[in-house]
Amino acid sequence: MTSDTKKQVVLMKGIGVSSGIAVGKAYLLERGAIEPAQYCSIDRSEAENEIERFKKALKESRDQLLRIKKMMEEDKRGKEHIRIIDAHLMILKDNMLINDTIKIIREEKINAEWALKNVLKSLMEYFNKIDDEYLKGRSSDIEHIFNRVLINLLGRKHESISEIKEPSIVVAHDLAPTDTAQMVNGTVLGFLTDVGGITSHTAILSRSLEIPAIMGLETITRKVEAGDTVIVDGTTGTVIINPSESVIDVYKKRIERFKDYGKALLDYRDLPSETTDGRRVKLMGNIEMIEEINPLIDHGAEGIGLYRTEFLYMNRKDLPTEEEHVKAYRHVVKKMSPNPVIIRTLDVGGDKFVLRVVADETNPAMGLRAIRFCLKNTDIFKTQLRGILRASSSGKVKVMFPMISGIDEIRRARALLEESMAELKAEGKPFDPNIQIGAMIEVPSAAIIADLIVREVDFVSIGTNDLLQYSLAIDRVNEHVAYLYEPFHPAVLRIIKTVADAANLAGVSVGVCGEMAGEPEYALILLGFGINNLSMNAFSILRVKRLIRSISFAEARKICKTILGFATAKEVEAYIASRMPELYKEEFWS
Ligand code: PEP
Ligand code: MG
Repeated sequence: MTSDTKKQVVLMKGIGVSSGIAVGKAYLLERGAIEPAQYCSIDRSEAENEIERFKKALKESRDQLLRIKKMMEEDKRGKEHIRIIDAHLMILKDNMLINDTIKIIREEKINAEWALKNVLKSLMEYFNKIDDEYLKGRSSDIEHIFNRVLINLLGRKHESISEIKEPSIVVAHDLAPTDTAQMVNGTVLGFLTDVGGITSHTAILSRSLEIPAIMGLETITRKVEAGDTVIVDGTTGTVIINPSESVIDVYKKRIERFKDYGKALLDYRDLPSETTDGRRVKLMGNIEMIEEINPLIDHGAEGIGLYRTEFLYMNRKDLPTEEEHVKAYRHVVKKMSPNPVIIRTLDVGGDKFVLRVVADETNPAMGLRAIRFCLKNTDIFKTQLRGILRASSSGKVKVMFPMISGIDEIRRARALLEESMAELKAEGKPFDPNIQIGAMIEVPSAAIIADLIVREVDFVSIGTNDLLQYSLAIDRVNEHVAYLYEPFHPAVLRIIKTVADAANLAGVSVGVCGEMAGEPEYALILLGFGINNLSMNAFSILRVKRLIRSISFAEARKICKTILGFATAKEVEAYIASRMPELYKEEFWS
């Protein structure tokens, strides 16, 4: 430790993708960009040799993945994530990876490594144009597989996480989900990477395995040396390299408190989500991928409040078939049964990924997005509606339409749903004829006519991510206007109140499924406005439940009345910040 204290203390901030604190020695893992040698003008027989080498590297990669899969099958938590390895095995079989690389070797007469790198480069250029965090996460899966094949082609050793014997903090330029999936044996205390973000598979897995992790640190691999002592605070995204003994002591105490905190939160798992004066607020989960279901169940989610179905359309050239829809939805519905699953129909366009069939638009956020796209492409829409309907025979399913801006869209969507019902009935395929229909309130026009919308649907769910984008005129993916993203903006508060009042007056369930729902200080005001359903990620559920159980509905309503009198978001924020420690004591430890 004496040598550590002589080293310079470095503090860095990144994206905390998995909460919790870890203190340990850094283990540097070689991962990330590999620059192979380039040979051109090889002759025909050399080209055939290169193709053979490439095929051999593919086989080696496949064998390695199968070994990892086998290892994961032997561990309960590993078992849950085998789908990810299967997805990697599928990418290995992809025609583009195999045929394009072989074609480039033959036509351009270059070595296999270079050809493979070229295929990856053109794929990544395509992905980089797409401004969508989720898709970026998926593109990193492809990159990891290409790199595995490249390492095998180069005859280098792929250092495995399972070879780490001492408890360590793994530091790498990038980590593949296959790396994270091997962290099941407990020797990896936490990890840090230069690249990556919150929606990558690696991040999702770290949350599910409850390993503190920070990604997107940009230069961590250049700042840390092997064996340095490192503190990882995944909750705040803070890294401290070479901390002093006294700082280590502070964090070790925090680790104990975090453990107690996690345990204390689990006590809330089976308690009703109810205020001290008896108001129930349903807490549900948001999912995009199957991997997110188990953590939600473990944290007591009362159903899925938002099932984003875009993933079904991603990473493919064709469109999903009705059978694929049915299979995916049934799996979720059965797992969550008897709790409900709200399936949101395709929300393509805008900041989401681009389907090949979507036209280039100069202003996509206001373009042919979501329900607008579906009502124009009724074949695509009906395939999904039929899939949702058929899944509704296996449990409690509700269908929800995104980006509704007027009544006409709801009526047309309903008509297509009814048309699909009639077809299924004629074909003798079972479905729930009383399936509930909901509208997402994300566009200001829908919020303003919420009183009319609630007459047409069984429930409404406020998508605050988009509602803020459209009502405050801030592009949700433009970092230059990110400072204007203010959930406490008086306009946002008034809009939410308008929707909640209209729904409550009509006796229609009203939820929030945007990011606001998962933050206790926002959940407090959503409760006060009369929202009765909040949908969020697994790790927010128990924190929000504890908040709800710590206050009364009457007090929350009073707070809402007070904040509606403020003129700026800053004033609202200051007021809520001043009240939180007294209202929600359990959360305010340091
Ligand atoms: C929202 O807009 O708040 C929402 C939940 O939908 P998404 O983030 O998928 O656009
Ligand atoms: Mg939205």
